[in-house]
Amino acid sequence: MDQTFLMIKPDGVQRGLVGEIVARFEKKGLKLVAAKFESLPEERVMEHYSEHKDKPFFPGLKSYIMSGPCFLMVWEGKNVVSITRQMIGATNPAEALPGTIRGDFALEIGMNVIHGSDSDETAKREIAIHFKKEEITSYERVDEKYLYE
Ligand code: UDP
Repeated sequence: MDQTFLMIKPDGVQRGLVGEIVARFEKKGLKLVAAKFESLPEERVMEHYSEHKDKPFFPGLKSYIMSGPCFLMVWEGKNVVSITRQMIGATNPAEALPGTIRGDFALEIGMNVIHGSDSDETAKREIAIHFKKEEITSYERVDEKYLYE
């Protein structure tokens, strides 16, 4: 089954949005298979955002991500990467549609509440950066026979 890495960033944790956000993905029918609170060490932030390390916004991004604990998750489900990216909305909350997480809960591009992997390949890479294999569970949800045709 497809998997993705989602992370509620420090603003989402501090603003008390963890429950609301997790509930949206649960109600969609996606399956939470791993989760932890963590203050990310610098090396993991550098690795996670390596594609942005030379961008002008990187120093601000790094200090924001390290400003408090994040809530890291692995979610599973059919087409989970594209579904969660749609539910998260555009990178810039000013352009994110109402009904998306960023559209409903954020105002500015830097502090946009949540990260989600943007491809299956990125998801594999990011899950491996943040989780050990044994931290990821495997189970059946009782409602799966009413979710999958
Ligand atoms: N970001 C920023 N300024 C920018 C672009 C991005 O502060 O001009 C931050 C923002 O928090 C974003 C993250 O860097 O979520 C990673 O950017 P990316 O383009 O990968 O967007 P995402 O995949 O998170 O939508």
